[in-house]
Amino acid sequence: MTNRTIAILGAGPVGLEAALAAAEAGWVFTIYEAADDVAGNVRSWGHVQLFTPWTMNVSPRMRARLAELGQEPPDGPECPTGTELTERAFEPLALAPEIATNLRLGTRVLEISRDGLLKSDEIGTGARAEHVFRLLVRDADGHERVEHADVVLDCTGTYDNPNALGLGGIAAPGERGAEEYIIRRIPDVRGPVLEGDAPGWSGLRILLVGAGHSAQTVARDLVDVVERAPETHVTWVIRSASPTFGAVENDALPRRYSLVQRAHELAYGSQSPLDVRLGRSVHALEASVGGIDVSLRTDGGDIEHVFVDRIISLTGSVGDARLYRQLQVHECYATSGPMRLAAALLSSSSVDCLAQQSQGADVLQNPEPDFYILGSKSYGRNSTFLMRVGWEQVDEVFELLGAPEAAPVGT
Ligand SMILES: Cc1cc2nc3c(=O)[nH]c(=O)nc-3n(C[C@H](O)[C@H](O)[C@H](O)COP(=O)(O)OP(=O)(O)OC[C@H]3O[C@@H](n4cnc5c(N)ncnc54)[C@H](O)[C@@H]3O)c2cc1C
Repeated sequence: MTNRTIAILGAGPVGLEAALAAAEAGWVFTIYEAADDVAGNVRSWGHVQLFTPWTMNVSPRMRARLAELGQEPPDGPECPTGTELTERAFEPLALAPEIATNLRLGTRVLEISRDGLLKSDEIGTGARAEHVFRLLVRDADGHERVEHADVVLDCTGTYDNPNALGLGGIAAPGERGAEEYIIRRIPDVRGPVLEGDAPGWSGLRILLVGAGHSAQTVARDLVDVVERAPETHVTWVIRSASPTFGAVENDALPRRYSLVQRAHELAYGSQSPLDVRLGRSVHALEASVGGIDVSLRTDGGDIEHVFVDRIISLTGSVGDARLYRQLQVHECYATSGPMRLAAALLSSSSVDCLAQQSQGADVLQNPEPDFYILGSKSYGRNSTFLMRVGWEQVDEVFELLGAPEAAPVGT
């Protein structure tokens, strides 16, 4: 009898949790991580403090393993920064022998198929499960190879796949040509704007686009820059004419509450240090020697121009569906999440991530047997995912998978 194998795609918080669960249950597994180190996404906003406390950011399984490794599991009501979370939980876990030996850093999974089958083969017959998964993988040296697995857990998140800047969610004319001026992650305003820039934001003309918590965080941080260097000009463009900023009634997360309050003051206050343009979308961009000419379209169809040096685009992100294009995955037409989970989420329709809980093992299943999308990618365009939902998803999937041993031939 041989053991079935699992490929875990992504060593973010949920991929690491899945790896611990796989090791615990005796599975043979490999974790592929595109970044040079674990938790590539969380690192990318390492300077930002989370809304949720240590108690919610480190799973019970991680806590137990950290203790076994002789590390004090971080605990308590404080909210860590992304860097603190990575350094005190994810990095030590990545050194655990069962993780370290199975972790392939700098290794991106490019595409997945079934060996010998196309997407359109064996529809609904169950025979697809008899064909091993075939993963096209590219390592840090750019070398491509094929690896195989019996089960695939896609925990690749969404951050690698930011949404476009332009009106209607597609790239604005000129957006592709202006890519070198656009930053699509949460920048630390104490450092350079873009790699290669001199440190410091003072005196720049900056366009910030988006209204979610990420954009709110940047708007708040940029106020400090404007106050220190009033020659800095920040235009904050928000699609809605009356944004609510994801406000939650009686918010139990104080840091989120104060961020939303601050965004309200900045957007609606008469003395805002930012040039806030509500009800505007990016219509077109034209990069030239002195900066970028950005045309904004108002709700009424008028065009306004702003001339800027840099653009921060925080218009959300969604998981990369190209990975499983050859698999039978049923995606939601509205959120791009896996259909069953998306339907469950749409019917619960809460904007509060604290109200989220895993929707049960059933909704994690796809028409493609043994292929599961977990973690923030499973939520598609719904931004209410919390890591603790990911911990629950991992438990549910491992319960579904049962024992790692393959059934003996002939049973
Ligand atoms: C500013 C900010 C604050 C947040 N605050 C909170 C909070 O307070 N509480 C909370 O619970 N959540 C918070 N979140 C959300 C949290 O970051 C996510 O819930 C969490 O990171 C999701 O974990 P994940 O493992 O699903 O995905 P990710 O963290 O995105 O991890 C995915 C991993 O997969 C890797 N990867 C991507 N593509 C590939 C590929 N093709 N092949 C191999 N590897 C790949 C990536 O490099 C990454 O390491 C916050 C997010 C942001 C941006």
